Amino acid sequence: MTSPPGASSPLPGALPSPGAGSSPLPIPADLHSHTSYSHGQAGTREMFEAACRAGLAIFGFTEHSPRPPEFLYPRDYQETLVRRLPDYAAEVLELKELGRERGVTVLLGLELDYFPGREDFAEEVIRAYPFDYIIGGLHFQGRWGFDFTPDDWKDLGEEERFAVYARYYRDLAAMCRSGLFTIAAHPDLVKIFSPDSFRDWLGTEKALALVREALTAIREAGMLLEVSSAGLRRSCNEIHPAPPIMRLARELGVPISFGSDAHCANTPAFAFDALARYARAFGYEQSEVIVQGKRSSLPIGAVP
Ligand SMILES: [Zn+2]
Ligand SMILES: [Zn+2]
Repeated sequence: MTSPPGASSPLPGALPSPGAGSSPLPIPADLHSHTSYSHGQAGTREMFEAACRAGLAIFGFTEHSPRPPEFLYPRDYQETLVRRLPDYAAEVLELKELGRERGVTVLLGLELDYFPGREDFAEEVIRAYPFDYIIGGLHFQGRWGFDFTPDDWKDLGEEERFAVYARYYRDLAAMCRSGLFTIAAHPDLVKIFSPDSFRDWLGTEKALALVREALTAIREAGMLLEVSSAGLRRSCNEIHPAPPIMRLARELGVPISFGSDAHCANTPAFAFDALARYARAFGYEQSEVIVQGKRSSLPIGAVP
């Protein structure tokens, strides 16, 4: 097993340098973004410029990872991604230099799908580049990419939906125990096409037990729980993760990071005021970042 980058470092509690303290944002670090090498709409340089304009002090590129070939969406970007991943990594490494000149810390990350039983594939991808950190994402159950279309969800009854949610949290716990990841991405993505059913499910004891187990696995793996504004741009129109999960995470002492999951130049730091208010409402006063493999804490600014 590979250790997740940054997971084993102590928390020095100091502001990463340079510039984090001078950001006008309540959250100066956005650790989740994509480019046109997958299904984003802007290149690496354009996303970097957008992050600078947004006032971010720390910007993490976390392009999607190639998946094992048997896991495909009906419409996919894998071919471009596999071919251009070396360009992605080289460009982000160059932007680190430019970032230094401009006072913005640029991080090279990856959003890697966890497929139970295919840890070998993940390990190989992680070894290929000097990543600062790895975001673990769940978007598939078996060969079904469950976040592709609401059409797939229309005919699922409550029992079937509840089974999908339960499996999602079992997979999340297994993902954390694999030791491959640093951050758990959008940790209730499974709700996007059925937020009402998901809310009902979260109201059950069985659901809370599974969520608790997954959150405990995040903490025990030294990982971070991502609080993401992506859900505000999706049909569920909710921040990830939902309030009952945030409440439990806080109670269990699970550390958090923030991400916009930006796919275009308008979305770095998207709705970060709302994220700051949301996290503070559950008692969070700091988030974590990973700079050069080391974790450190940043205060979450107050937003009126
Ligand atoms: Zn994702
Ligand atoms: Zn993403």
